[in-house]
Amino acid sequence: GLVHGIKNPELRQVLTEVFMKDQDQQEFMQAVREVAVSLQPVFEKRPELLPIFKQIVEPERVITFRVSWLDDAGNLQVNRGFRVQYSSAIGPYKGGLRFHPSVNLSIMKFLAFEQIFKNSLTTLPMGGGKGGSDFDPKGKSDAEVMRFCQSFMTELQRHISYVQDVPAGDIGVGAREIGYLFGQYKRITKNYTGVLTGKGQEYGGSEIRPEATGYGAVLFVENVLKDKGESLKGKRCLVSGAGNVAQYCAELLLEKGAIVLSLSDSQGYVYEPNGFSKEQLQAVMDMKKKNNSARISEYKSDTAVYVGDRRKPWELDCQVDIAFPCATQNEIDEADAELLIKHGCQYVVEGANMPSTNEAIHKYNKAGIVYCPGKAANAGGVAVSGLEMTQNRMSLNWTREEVRDKLERIMKDIYDSAMGAAREYNVDLASGANIAGFTKVADAVKAQGAVP
Ligand code: GLU
Repeated sequence: GLVHGIKNPELRQVLTEVFMKDQDQQEFMQAVREVAVSLQPVFEKRPELLPIFKQIVEPERVITFRVSWLDDAGNLQVNRGFRVQYSSAIGPYKGGLRFHPSVNLSIMKFLAFEQIFKNSLTTLPMGGGKGGSDFDPKGKSDAEVMRFCQSFMTELQRHISYVQDVPAGDIGVGAREIGYLFGQYKRITKNYTGVLTGKGQEYGGSEIRPEATGYGAVLFVENVLKDKGESLKGKRCLVSGAGNVAQYCAELLLEKGAIVLSLSDSQGYVYEPNGFSKEQLQAVMDMKKKNNSARISEYKSDTAVYVGDRRKPWELDCQVDIAFPCATQNEIDEADAELLIKHGCQYVVEGANMPSTNEAIHKYNKAGIVYCPGKAANAGGVAVSGLEMTQNRMSLNWTREEVRDKLERIMKDIYDSAMGAAREYNVDLASGANIAGFTKVADAVKAQGAVP
């Protein structure tokens, strides 16, 4: 059952209550369970933090709203919008917006829950939130996306501000969507101060924001490797996804002398047996820039092998050192994890949010794979969002070098604090990340007097 492996009876009770209320929310229960399991040693040492965990698990506020818009044929379309304002313990709610047909309350809540601890790890003062809609931007015209974004923001604007809740992008929300959303926010509220991050650089966006999540994942594992006297040079990497995160993850990997063997989308994956060259990766990036709905199957080279049928690169029968899941939740299940182990994989570095099922994580641990969870490894994106907020409030722009230096420093700090907690509690890196992220938030909640 869902509380299997949890020995502390009070913690079992807390989780049972949560899971009874949200029985249909699979992804949410998965995320809560993963964190709860690793917090057990904390509750042994500091039992006063258990009621605080119970409190943190309940979102401060969940907002759902109607988004109606006119398609190009003049038909009325209706979608559902969400904003989960999960925790404001250490700063204003912060987290992306996801536009994808799979979006529902469970997905929104798991993402916002993870965001609390991720943001805590960044060292910056940001609380946790997430939002989005079941709207699918794929195949929509520019004008349709614009009208949808305007309608979405017409409602969302009443719930956000740069000192209360600062959304950004996630799957399906990139520079174009952020532009339309920001324009509408400004039109309605007359407020120019950066209420959204991930803005275009002409109007308040930060250098390195588009690159930050992918770059950050590479920088994170570089810290892990360095501790073992190793480097990325020559490491054979599987990357999944073909969006923002995957593209810039692959870009920095090539810069570091690693070999990028794959990219993918929901339809299938492409395999470059000798690894993508810089030019080949650029071709993928140009293709996606020209048409965001482009399929990875449209990428062609003399050596590329495309495998469709919704198959995933984890099955590739070749020597693998590191896997970078950069697509979406639960893209590595138990069977996929077994294949990775069979092919020699030593590290899993999560560019996506919760790409590994709890069963897959169990397999990693048993096989001695170093597991770098998303809330630490992909925190570079929201970290540079935090830097964008700072720049906006100071009314200035840092240079590329300044932002990159800060990102490198933050990824090292995240690694150090996760490792520090791991050593203190004698647990693995992923549990250390949960512990470091949680204790900071819990201490803040306690200090603010919210517990009876
Ligand atoms: N959506 C990204 C994440 O999962 C970034 C959020 C942000 O920049 O606020 O962390």
